[in-house]
Amino acid sequence: MGKLNDLTITQARDGLAAGDFSAVELTDDCITAMEAARDLNIFITETPDIARDRAAQSDARRAKGEVVGAMDGVPIAMKDLFCTDGTLTTAASHILDGFTPPYESTVSQNLRDAGAVMLGKTNLDEFAMGSANMTSYYGPVKNPWVGANGEDLVPGGSSGGSVSAVAAHVCPGATGTDTGGSIRQPASLCGVVGLKPTYGRCSRWGIVAFASSLDQAGPFARTVLDSAIMLGAMAGHDPKDSTSAPVAVPDFEAAITGDIKGLKVGIPKEYTLDGMPSEIQDLWDRGAAWLTEQGAEIKPVSLPHTKYALPAYYIVAPAEASSNLARYDGVRYGLRVDGDSLDEMYENTRGEGFGAEVRRRVMIGAYVLSAGYYDAYYVKAQQVRTIILDEFNQVFQDVDVLLTPTAPNAAFPIGAKMDDPVAMYLNDVFTVPANMAGLPAISVPSGLDSDGLPLGLQIVAKPFDEETMFRAADVLERAAEFSALPKYLGGQ
Ligand code: GLN
Repeated sequence: MGKLNDLTITQARDGLAAGDFSAVELTDDCITAMEAARDLNIFITETPDIARDRAAQSDARRAKGEVVGAMDGVPIAMKDLFCTDGTLTTAASHILDGFTPPYESTVSQNLRDAGAVMLGKTNLDEFAMGSANMTSYYGPVKNPWVGANGEDLVPGGSSGGSVSAVAAHVCPGATGTDTGGSIRQPASLCGVVGLKPTYGRCSRWGIVAFASSLDQAGPFARTVLDSAIMLGAMAGHDPKDSTSAPVAVPDFEAAITGDIKGLKVGIPKEYTLDGMPSEIQDLWDRGAAWLTEQGAEIKPVSLPHTKYALPAYYIVAPAEASSNLARYDGVRYGLRVDGDSLDEMYENTRGEGFGAEVRRRVMIGAYVLSAGYYDAYYVKAQQVRTIILDEFNQVFQDVDVLLTPTAPNAAFPIGAKMDDPVAMYLNDVFTVPANMAGLPAISVPSGLDSDGLPLGLQIVAKPFDEETMFRAADVLERAAEFSALPKYLGGQ
């Protein structure tokens, strides 16, 4: 048919229901778009045969009147951190060479059960560690948006392939994971919607673990409504994950009413940064004004320990990572680099198998967990985490949601910030607190900077109150009227 890949999830769902086109036709257009976009380096593994097969099954179900779920027949891209039965799963690391799981992660299974069609496995920062998709063993992903002088930009990270797939209209939705911002920050840098739900809303079972107390799966899509539909298909209690919450999944779509009259919106004054571009502050002010016009009540609030969230995160996350990544030893799966002794084989395998950023995190983690430093670093960081959570709880007594910028900058050139890990880590300064406190948070494309690059605003909500998050985000989206297209699609 041609160009069905431009449809949103909602349009695809409605068009399939109306019989305007088949899932196979829709999928074929997405496969064509996937192949045409190879220069962006979005996919580590393309799975067109699986996609066509599942699309044909969807059409067959529909012909019999047996549509299984909201995403039936809708093509999506899968971050290559989700284990997929029979399909190579790499976490973008050399150490997982050849790893083909004999099982399916719960989230990808849920999407499959809802009828979604997997197009392929997307590129990411190695083990989801990064903010620019620069640490992948499979090379950087390009942002479909380009810089003022035509230079290639990072899509953000770690879910760089998934976000670029959605921003370049390869497909209408993609999965991501967010440990410190890896869905929301790339969404902001690429002009799409991205959210992390409450910790425990989506099962972590079968997702390659980075920092288990922070990791959450979530969707990328081009609209808030699409994100609500897709999260509904991903979420749910899972007995296989002891941290998965035994709560029902609400009808997120129904929560989007367009009505925010009387909604109390907090503006945390600590979410500013020295040297932050004034256009981000301006956009934030505009966002508050839009919500006020729609009947919300804006309240300045204070979260005084916000500035400690990022440093505490960079102790907790590497600590958990060093423990989670201890399993990659070359014995049972993935890469093995032989040595003269067992110890040497471990050293060779891990030395060659992990990239520089992963090795840095493993070393930081081992250090902060070591006997002499445990109390000074790890315990202290956990204490800070508790204070951050307490402060959010306190503020949420007075307000329903918070409005903040998503990231302190727009997309930057490929290669920038690479010699300065701390500058790179600062990308997550506004996203990390929600992970530390386990809160749901969404990034909505809200404007362009002076170079014509997208900027997002973030709505943070109370635990398990994604419904209010979606309701507010939808109103923000309507007010922002973001419709700019990246260079890749003929915009800019
Ligand atoms: N950029 C952050 C980090 O490098 C967050 C990554 C993520 O959310 N997976 O840790």
